[in-house]
Amino acid sequence: MHGLSKSRILAHRQCPRRLWLQIHRPELAEEDPWSAARFAAGHQVGDIARDLQPGGVLIDAEDLKQALADTARVLREPPRPLFEATFQADGVLVRADLLLPDGNEWRMAEVKSATKVKPYHLTDAAVQSWVTRKAGVALSRVEIAHIDTSFIYPGDGRYEGLLAHTDITDEIAPLEPEVPAWIDAARATLDGADPETAPGTQCSDPFDCPFFGFCSPDEGDEDIYPPEVLPYAGKLADELRAEGYEDIRSIPEGRLSSPKHIRVWQATRDNTPVLDAEAATLLRGMGWPRYYLDFETIQFVVPIWAGTRPYAQVPFQWSCHVENATGDVAHLEYLADGTGDPRRAFAEALVAALGTEGPIFVYFAPFERTRMRELAETYPDLAPALMAAIDRIVDLLPIARTHYYHPEMRGSWSIKAVLPSIAPELAYDDLEVADGGMAQSAFAEILQPETSTERKAQLRDGLLKYCERDTWAMVRVARHFQGTDHAE
Ligand code: SF4
Repeated sequence: MHGLSKSRILAHRQCPRRLWLQIHRPELAEEDPWSAARFAAGHQVGDIARDLQPGGVLIDAEDLKQALADTARVLREPPRPLFEATFQADGVLVRADLLLPDGNEWRMAEVKSATKVKPYHLTDAAVQSWVTRKAGVALSRVEIAHIDTSFIYPGDGRYEGLLAHTDITDEIAPLEPEVPAWIDAARATLDGADPETAPGTQCSDPFDCPFFGFCSPDEGDEDIYPPEVLPYAGKLADELRAEGYEDIRSIPEGRLSSPKHIRVWQATRDNTPVLDAEAATLLRGMGWPRYYLDFETIQFVVPIWAGTRPYAQVPFQWSCHVENATGDVAHLEYLADGTGDPRRAFAEALVAALGTEGPIFVYFAPFERTRMRELAETYPDLAPALMAAIDRIVDLLPIARTHYYHPEMRGSWSIKAVLPSIAPELAYDDLEVADGGMAQSAFAEILQPETSTERKAQLRDGLLKYCERDTWAMVRVARHFQGTDHAE
């Protein structure tokens, strides 16, 4: 009989094949580059959840028999909070994040880094409570302890209020009787042959499946333009596939009705980029000097700087290319030194760099605009300059979306999709830091006291080159749209 854990049952609930591959062909799983960071954040939240329950005892034996025995022993003692209490029933093992005395019973809480209760948390908690009750523990209620985004960190390691406890007892009550069937189904799958489930929406819901590359070997074929490259195709993509169109180039004239879809289809079929003359007209009408601006931010589940919230986007770096009417370009930049809250110095340097006139180009304006508004709220003395700069922002993304398409963009108007079609020599693959996620990781490493001076210098160099590339890319895109891009 296969031993099952809660996570294995959840894997089976997502997709039978996922559990089967996890147990029988684990070498086929792709590495998730973010799993270590997620794991570390989860640990940190778990540690805080325990700190907030004084007088508790942690069941930390790695040996499961020992953990079961330790749990049973502590439960016979006068009641006090238990962390990682371990239970087993019908060969299924669970460890409860928090088990808290509640009169003669126990309150069980699962700690999650999410900001609200999600459907899969209910499945997770149903398994947990079913096993715990079956092991003989009377539960008064079951909760999810999740991040409260209204929490503002006051500093000094005070995290009371970081976690909100949501009672889910009533929601999981109808799920608990289903748990034995879930267990039987998971065992039956493991005892059988590869279920060979076809890929579908389950591959990313509720988690990205690490076997996607194995199950979908043809995904990412550069020579194919599947219906999904049509923007926001949704159901239409399914319909087109059902009609036998695996590549949009084979779709006949008249089948598509949305002008945006027709534009993508036509450009792809003819292998010819589209650039409307309106884009040039629009850009030529803009004043000088022109600023091309981009921010990098870092998010913490558990805030580390006083005055910040969980998951807040804290800006730590900007790059700005400044172009004058003659085409001369200067580059300005800011990167926090990693010794404390970067926001004030970031905002001051930004205000000084942006001057008082001329359009400020960004790519996807809501991001920069929101960060600047947040800075204005935090630093009222800088608010007039920041708000005036916000009024000068021009978003290049909707201009690109409306007036430009190249088949190589494969249905995406992100700057990293647009740039190779305009300036292929500026691809990001020569950079050590090549996307926003890597920038965030690099800065997180700079913040670590144990990071060596040499490593910090290397990371700073990577960050500076990356952010500069982003804003230079915008210069090139704007010039291309305007018809003034002469390869540099
Ligand atoms: S990739 Fe999709 S089909 Fe394959 S195991 Fe994972 S969830 Fe199942």
